[in-house]
Amino acid sequence: MKWEGNRQSDNVEDRRGSGGSFGVGGRGIGVGSVVIALVAWGVFGINPLTTLGLLAGSGQTQVAHQAPARQPPANDRDAAFVSTVLASTEDAWQQVFAAAGARYQPPRLVLYRGATPTACGTGQAAMGPFYCPGDRKVYLDMDFFDTLSRQLGAPGEFARAYVIAHEVGHHVQTLLGTTQKVDALRGRISQREQNALSVRVELQADCYAGIWAHQSQRAKQWLEQGDLESAINAAAQIGDDHLQREQSGVARPDTFTHGTSAQRQRWFLTGYKSGSVAACDTFGAQSL
Ligand SMILES: [Zn+2]
Repeated sequence: MKWEGNRQSDNVEDRRGSGGSFGVGGRGIGVGSVVIALVAWGVFGINPLTTLGLLAGSGQTQVAHQAPARQPPANDRDAAFVSTVLASTEDAWQQVFAAAGARYQPPRLVLYRGATPTACGTGQAAMGPFYCPGDRKVYLDMDFFDTLSRQLGAPGEFARAYVIAHEVGHHVQTLLGTTQKVDALRGRISQREQNALSVRVELQADCYAGIWAHQSQRAKQWLEQGDLESAINAAAQIGDDHLQREQSGVARPDTFTHGTSAQRQRWFLTGYKSGSVAACDTFGAQSL
């Protein structure tokens, strides 16, 4: 992926140096527990804190006092990569929204280590990257990239970019009101139905990640041989069926919250090939 030299985003907030200002954790979470947590809460969950019951009541949690937001240091290559990918999501979605006569409001992306306060409660690296609708921020501990390539079998820069684009997809769902509609349903349906709904939310975020891939490739021609495959492989490695079989030997479809490997691949490719939000209607789709 030829990302170097492209525009970087101003919307990255670097909290990695602020150790001590927030008391939880540090880097003591083992990779094994990360993988288990990913299976338990879902990889790239939308607001996994909801499932932990930390959102009690109001949906807003007081965010602890923090040092002012800082940008990452210029010589940090990994942060530059994240910032470049985030900028490309801004460009891609700005275009898509503008074509529909709307204005895109980009999310911020927080780099942190171990744990950090969010409007959805305490974000922890064990949850994997996630998006918090309450403060409209994507939270990323970049150690996850190692987990992605070593533990989850999904190496490659484009696989990492897909992860970021998927989280931004949840932001787009919030801007479009989808997140709010789904949240309103949650209290009124069974766990099984909630899981089924969650699958449609997640597959739509995969499809939106595909739209980003479509738009950014058209604008930058930055994909290289094997890049698309690395994202498609990532989508397969983090399918619920695959993760559950890895973890316990069996897959239990009624507990799926993100979709199977085949479904995640299919919806990413639907977005990639069409570049169209309308094509990503996972809620209206008869078959996923
Ligand atoms: Zn997700």
